[in-house]
Amino acid sequence: MIYFVGAGPGDPELITVKGAKLLARADVVIYTGSLVNRELLDLCKPETEIYNSAGMHLEEITQIMINAHQAGREVVRLHTGDPSLYGAIQEQMDALNSTAVPYAVVPGVSSFLAAAAAIPHELTLPGITQTVILTRMEGRTPVPKKESISSLAAHNATMCIFLSVHMLDGLARELITGGYGDQTPVVVVEKASWPDERVVTGTLANIAEKAREAGINRTAMIIVGDVLKADYTPSRLYDPDFTHGFRGGKS
Ligand code: SAH
Repeated sequence: MIYFVGAGPGDPELITVKGAKLLARADVVIYTGSLVNRELLDLCKPETEIYNSAGMHLEEITQIMINAHQAGREVVRLHTGDPSLYGAIQEQMDALNSTAVPYAVVPGVSSFLAAAAAIPHELTLPGITQTVILTRMEGRTPVPKKESISSLAAHNATMCIFLSVHMLDGLARELITGGYGDQTPVVVVEKASWPDERVVTGTLANIAEKAREAGINRTAMIIVGDVLKADYTPSRLYDPDFTHGFRGGKS
């Protein structure tokens, strides 16, 4: 069996219990070298074969998986955060689909969630927004036109923007063009949940300069939206007049 496992955002305690158990049992581990915390590999057996996928081609990765499976060995493919977001796992699963090798995915704590915890702040607030948009700026990977930052900005929802901190000037401009006020709060979280995590707060008008001053230009999450301001209608979840599936109504 091949397990695609979410390693979480960095803190080795933020992998799931299931993911940790699979790592402890694995005979072969292929991890995403750039972002996965290597401390997680301490969970592996001493004899576990460990590969860093940085610089490996898709075919090399899938061949290692297939060979190991055919030799009766268990494989963990360890991806940063949750594997379903910007993880390039689809092409690996598709390659396995064309063989008879079985696989399963174990989710992980995505970095946008670790970033919200670092602030800490809720991303959905009644009366402000009930929507979170996960996206990125166009880089080497194209983004469909309908999903341009400015068109997504028109919703004034909470946006969590991956893979884009090195383009923060252009990003802030596009967000304003799209419809956020230039005083909309923005938080940039670098290396959320790592010991050297940093949080920079500002507005769309000044965040690019603040991040530049802090020297943040990689591995950071950008969270934008009025949700980060305090003014909102408190959630009805803990309102005694609000009947809730578990708690029932007032008796
Ligand atoms: N699958 C991953 C995302 C991989 S893309 C996930 O679910 O988090 C890599 C991007 O994720 C980085 O450019 C950065 O925007 C973000 N990222 C990953 N780890 C992060 C962390 N610990 N703190 C802040 N951003 C992080």
